[in-house]
Amino acid sequence: MISRKLGKWIICSAWPYINAIPHLGTFIHLLTADVYSRFLKLMGEEVISVSGSDEHGTPIEVEAIKQNISPRELTDRNHEIMLELLDTYDIELSNYTRTESRIHIEFVQEFYKKLEENGFIYTKKSVQLYCNFCKRFLPDRFVEGICPYCGYQNARGDQCDKCGRLLEPIMLKNPYCVICKNRPVKKETTHWYFDLPAFRDAIREYIENNKQLPENARNFSLQWLKEGLKERAVTRDNKWGIPAPFKGAENKTIYVWMEAVLGYLSAVKELSIKVGDETLFDRFWKDPKTKTVFFIGKDNIPFHTIVFPALLLASGDNYVLPWQVSSTEFILFEGMKFSKSRGIGVWMDEAKNVADPEYWRFVLMSIRPEVKDSNFTWKEFKQIINNDLNDVLGNFIHRSLSFTYKYMKGVVPKVDNIDSDDNIFTKTIMNLCEKYVNRMYNFKIKEATRLVVETARKGNEYLSKKRPWEAPSSKNVNAVIYNTIQASAHLALMLYPFMPKASITILNILNLRDLYQKPRFMREWEIVKPGTRIRKPFPVFHKINLQRT
Ligand SMILES: [Zn+2]
Ligand SMILES: [Zn+2]
Repeated sequence: MISRKLGKWIICSAWPYINAIPHLGTFIHLLTADVYSRFLKLMGEEVISVSGSDEHGTPIEVEAIKQNISPRELTDRNHEIMLELLDTYDIELSNYTRTESRIHIEFVQEFYKKLEENGFIYTKKSVQLYCNFCKRFLPDRFVEGICPYCGYQNARGDQCDKCGRLLEPIMLKNPYCVICKNRPVKKETTHWYFDLPAFRDAIREYIENNKQLPENARNFSLQWLKEGLKERAVTRDNKWGIPAPFKGAENKTIYVWMEAVLGYLSAVKELSIKVGDETLFDRFWKDPKTKTVFFIGKDNIPFHTIVFPALLLASGDNYVLPWQVSSTEFILFEGMKFSKSRGIGVWMDEAKNVADPEYWRFVLMSIRPEVKDSNFTWKEFKQIINNDLNDVLGNFIHRSLSFTYKYMKGVVPKVDNIDSDDNIFTKTIMNLCEKYVNRMYNFKIKEATRLVVETARKGNEYLSKKRPWEAPSSKNVNAVIYNTIQASAHLALMLYPFMPKASITILNILNLRDLYQKPRFMREWEIVKPGTRIRKPFPVFHKINLQRT
């Protein structure tokens, strides 16, 4: 018996940067947010989930210049592709928006005005690189040169791809403008900064008291605090971005990192307008009991445990601080880093042509890199689909449904004559369900997929032991069929977050179509009442043939 105190949740996933179409490794955060939201709803929790396209910043501006279109044309196109991908992979967030949304822009401007009023924004002069030919400053990726640390020839203004160190454009040796290839000059400019060091004690207290934060996020953040917090530039000399709302900052925009992160709030604001519920924003973001969850890559941890909470505190608006930051390691592709130019990896627009999007959902969650980097291989992909989903799970469910249809004329029987094997089976499946629920609540999503397969495996073992086909009229057969039907219903529910279509198909055969919308998940063994007439079963899972393996 599972009973829990239910609550309110905001599920957030890293906003995909839409300079290009996402591959498996970047899409996984959106998918996890959807899987997790579906699970919470199944448990009866109150959930909203938000994300959106992150579309400002220099990589997009540079890409647009290369393609000879405006940044907005580029992001309009890629945002449309994102919407199609969400639809294809059945990702149903409460609101998927974009950083060019009017509501986001206004929210960010008001937010920073407030921070300035509260005394946490100040200006400072600094020397930056300037291109006399392009007549512009060269922030971040507008400049390349030699890495001062490792000597790599094509280091970018914000980071060296070879040694991974964070850089400032001014640090590069032999810098050149990426647009015209000319050598830039040094020029003084003024920028607006956020007083992050003012929040050192508050952030330390927040991290130390938030027992929920995983070990990796906690240690990483405490290490950052130990090294000392530095002020963060809020503005950039860019045209493409959100105009800075500060006096004297007319030609500046807000640095993309410092505004996209506020999308978690503005997207909920936008949602409240969409659904016509003005109280929604405060009810979720300002209730200290709300649990906010962030599915992100490990390279994004400090932004979510330090910079974002400090911004929220600086606003003085009593926003709830991040409750859980579930970060993942990297996914490799056949042992290599994803690279579009070298043709290494799978991109989400192509993936759907290889296999049913639902199979991708399940496979990606089964290899979710929760503890260490994981390696995607076609061999494992095929094995998960053909063995785990088809031979184990599909086989058990199809046999359970077919036996009911064949031996019971499609009607779920009453139980009589229970023996100890039946009792053990019932207990085993209920234990696995409870384990699954615990793993999911603890963000061990990968383990939860294993438990789904394990549950079906136990079902197959039970059938192999009982062999109802050998004596279909014997007395114990009723109990066997009754039990395998209940186990199939539990399995369909466990599968729902990962493969909603397959789950609903199974529930539909069981005549329980709306079950996933009713918060009574796994509270009792009997889900399907005796006397229920099931529909004619058919195989829900199919093997795939891959030419590339
Ligand atoms: Zn380097
Ligand atoms: Zn130039």
